[in-house]
Amino acid sequence: MRRVTDMEKTLVLLKPSCVERHLIGEVISRIEKRGIIISGMKMMQLDENILREHYSHLVDKPFFPDLAASMMASPVVAMVLKGVDVVSVFREMVGVTNGRKAAPGTIRGDLSMSGSLNIIHASDSPENAEIEINRFFKPAEVFDYTPQDLKFIYGEGEI
Ligand code: UDP
Ligand code: MG
Repeated sequence: MRRVTDMEKTLVLLKPSCVERHLIGEVISRIEKRGIIISGMKMMQLDENILREHYSHLVDKPFFPDLAASMMASPVVAMVLKGVDVVSVFREMVGVTNGRKAAPGTIRGDLSMSGSLNIIHASDSPENAEIEINRFFKPAEVFDYTPQDLKFIYGEGEI
């Protein structure tokens, strides 16, 4: 039996620029089609406190007030994704920060024209993913089920 318990996890936020533009389904569809497991998902209204933590590397930047406001403009959809090497695999799917520079085929490269309102957040390392998952999810909100199609998503020995 393949086990998903120890698979890598990443934290994703579908930003207000995604929610307001009715792109939630489009992004979730790409996640499901890739074979990435959705282990947790909920809608949240973010506030200044959680954003100062989440974007602590950017709080001193002049654009931080605009960034915080854009992240509070509507609820976000928070997700925990699971997969082999999912942090780097999903960052590749997201594309570079500026939507205008992101490669076609990526989420930002297909859906965004902005360096700030760029649809989506995804953790940039497994260490940060763990911190970010704990920031946005309680343990009971992350589910450890094993999808039945997993044997068609990974080959023998890949998990
Ligand atoms: N951001 C911005 N202007 C910048 C750089 C970043 O508005 O010059 C915003 C943008 O929404 C970005 C977020 O701050 O997604 C976090 O920045 P980071 O450098 O961590 O980029 P990411 O990991 O999201 O690609
Ligand atoms: Mg980042």
